[in-house]
Amino acid sequence: MLSMMVGPTDVPKVVLEAMMRPSISHRSPEYRKIHENVKKGLQTVFGTKEDVYILTSSGSGAMETAITNLFSPGDEVIVPVMGVFSKQFADMCDIFGLDTKRIEVEPNDAVTPEAIAELLTPNTKGVFVIHNESSTGVRNDLKAIGEVLKDHPALYITDAVSGFGGMPLEMDAWGLDVCLTGSQKALMAPAGLAFIALSKKAWEAYEKSSMPKFYFDLGKFRDFSDKNETPNTPAVYNMFALEKALELVAEEGIEQIYARQEENTRLLHEGVRKLGLDIFPKNDEIASRTLTAVVAKGRAKEIVAALADRDVIVNGGLPPFDEDVFRVGTMGFITNDNVREFLRQLEQVL
Ligand SMILES: *Cc1c(COP(=O)(O)O)cnc(C)c1O
Repeated sequence: MLSMMVGPTDVPKVVLEAMMRPSISHRSPEYRKIHENVKKGLQTVFGTKEDVYILTSSGSGAMETAITNLFSPGDEVIVPVMGVFSKQFADMCDIFGLDTKRIEVEPNDAVTPEAIAELLTPNTKGVFVIHNESSTGVRNDLKAIGEVLKDHPALYITDAVSGFGGMPLEMDAWGLDVCLTGSQKALMAPAGLAFIALSKKAWEAYEKSSMPKFYFDLGKFRDFSDKNETPNTPAVYNMFALEKALELVAEEGIEQIYARQEENTRLLHEGVRKLGLDIFPKNDEIASRTLTAVVAKGRAKEIVAALADRDVIVNGGLPPFDEDVFRVGTMGFITNDNVREFLRQLEQVL
């Protein structure tokens, strides 16, 4: 069985085993130690010195948290829409009554800093840029966009759910005010936890936000975080798993993981092209390093099913590209040899 999914990803056995233990109280010293370790591990991957808050939800819960904690109805925000997940952020902004300015980006392209600069006004309160659009396999240059936003009062927010832990992310150095992600993608932990970190500037916005919030009120998370606790019962077993997964990340080293992902991606691009297929993003530079969207005109569903018959699990494309595109995850524990094996199987299937 070779699982190259785009999330939830395969959870390593040692991570699963970390959950085979008696339950503990989330108000105990034992829990607090785990919470502290997890926060530290996450800070390294976020590239931040800011505190990281641990939410019991999937990634979308953290997206909603960013909106309800930092904005008020009527606030003007910019959201480049490049696929299913960036569109979800734009739709959420609408639902919460923000004045959403969408940038409709070509689906096989990244958003440019210029396109964002063009829409910025003195009233812009937030700019939501996805790190890695999981539906199209396109990544954005968050650093370059950070340069454009550096002297503007708007908050710079990223959904890093599918890039986090697999592609470089430097929250502090790139000037990001809000960074959020989930547990079930490159972190190779079970689904069920989401993480969010805020800059000082984001905390100032929190004070002004008039949006209702209760369960996801980050002010409460901040108070409890000082004690290494959460306001309500956290998913304690997911925390056991996550602590272990972050240990694996630290053992390999985050820079080595990025390098492995880079090599995985290079091998995949080269391999699929040799087989007469292509990648969906318009060039290699903007292509994701945690998942690859492969174009197989009209044959995508058939190929995914035939691979599954051989115990090779990859994901189909998302509408409107589900007939023509399938997606191969390299995030998590995928090695160069796994990629070579995948390409051998794909060759057989074709
Ligand atoms: C998976 C994903 C999400 C969140 O999905 P959940 O199912 O809520 O965890 C958000 N953004 C991106 C880019 C994703 O890949």
